Amino acid sequence: MKFKIQLVTQTETGEDIQELACLERETEGLEEIGISLTEAKALLATLQKQVVEQQLAAYLAVRQRCPECAQAFRHKDQHPVVFRTLFGNLEFPSPRWFQCACQPHETHTFSPLTDLLTEHC
Ligand SMILES: [Zn+2]
Repeated sequence: MKFKIQLVTQTETGEDIQELACLERETEGLEEIGISLTEAKALLATLQKQVVEQQLAAYLAVRQRCPECAQAFRHKDQHPVVFRTLFGNLEFPSPRWFQCACQPHETHTFSPLTDLLTEHC
């Protein structure tokens, strides 16, 4: 018997399905009933990573344009950022964008995720 565990994400633009795990089980012995602690931890870590990835993508998507003139920010580079969670540390690419020239700024660039990922989760 196979158990497919999926993450179904619903947004205003539609629905997305990602497979988190596929467990194969027979029912011949007690040790095959249910899921193990190791499988549960791996499943939660995968779930956490995929949920956070989608949240960060959504966070960046609504901030990719200048709020003053609606011009898209130009990408400069990116660096890895580590986000500590109950289910393990997650590393993501954190983009750095140029400030928009329509307004004066104290810096030439900014990293939008550093405003969000200031504390542990
Ligand atoms: Zn602007």
